[in-house]
Amino acid sequence: MKELKELTRANIWNLAPYSCARNEYNGRNASVFLDANENPYNAPYNRYPDPLQLEVKKLLAKVKRVPEECIFLGNGSDEAIDLMYRCFTEPRIDNVVAIDPTYGMYKVCADINDVEYRSVSLDTDGFSLNADRLLSACDRNTKVIWLCSPNNPTANALDHEEMVKILTHFEGIVVVDEAYSDFSSQPLFRHELAKYSNIVVLNTMSKAWACAGIRMGMAFASKEIIDLMNKVKYPYNINVLAQREALDILKDPYEIDKWVRTILLERSRVIDAIKLLPLCRKVYPTDANFILVEVDDAQKTYDYLVSKGIIVRNRNKVHLCQDCLRITIGTKTENQELLAALRTM
Ligand SMILES: *Cc1c(COP(=O)(O)O)cnc(C)c1O
Repeated sequence: MKELKELTRANIWNLAPYSCARNEYNGRNASVFLDANENPYNAPYNRYPDPLQLEVKKLLAKVKRVPEECIFLGNGSDEAIDLMYRCFTEPRIDNVVAIDPTYGMYKVCADINDVEYRSVSLDTDGFSLNADRLLSACDRNTKVIWLCSPNNPTANALDHEEMVKILTHFEGIVVVDEAYSDFSSQPLFRHELAKYSNIVVLNTMSKAWACAGIRMGMAFASKEIIDLMNKVKYPYNINVLAQREALDILKDPYEIDKWVRTILLERSRVIDAIKLLPLCRKVYPTDANFILVEVDDAQKTYDYLVSKGIIVRNRNKVHLCQDCLRITIGTKTENQELLAALRTM
């Protein structure tokens, strides 16, 4: 990879970050806090949260097996996605390259930041990744490549060797979004941070960790990249309530394992049942907690399900996904309801 300084926007590299009141004292045994203009009443909500979320990161480091200093926490993965643009791309000059179809936020954040977004189609047979095609869409102003594995909405994991090829040949930042990796048995790039200085791996509390409501996403990368992201983020980006709930859920990772195993069992049951339906043309292979199903008429099926109070995601208008519905795996009861409705359509 190029030197980080060369990849980083000059204004960001030179930025003097906001200094939080509580960052400045480094004495121990402090018990009287008159430094932050807080109200002394209404504990614990009267106090500002830890800007670097060190307690949460300590647990996360164990659970995810990533060094603490290589973890960034954001207000959902969305914050980390936006920060990639703010740290590395010069509006109207730089560009990013991404697979297509993929998660919509990469493009939304490009548009917000006024950065050119180049889509490179996945292969038509099975949504596979072609590293050479992606690399040839890059030029000297390409700063970031977006990969998502398992990919949303196609549900498949991308080929590991092709991803390695991109990581080793591309000079800029490669983001690998592993939001769904708990549902997959593929090797994890978050365990290869030391091998690739240009990788940023995204994870989220929103899927396997069942905490979409608290808005907590994370990025794993070299300490240098994490320091840069921390410099640019809002000082108190994760509130007290979210940090507390994250600590609670991280103390019981076995509960998550149980949920994931149940969802995986349900996933194979739902796939088998949907494949038997006359309206089903194809169920694509999945490494995630959802399935992509091609049906005879996606709009009609979607509308019918809505009329029954069942909401799935209509991906009919998405590149390569004509007549496809994206269906999240729910509880056994919810899945039963979905299947019963589809059988009587
Ligand atoms: C759901 C999802 C996320 C999670 O985003 P949050 O902002 O953390 O809720 C990230 N990436 C992909 C590909 C997703 O599908």
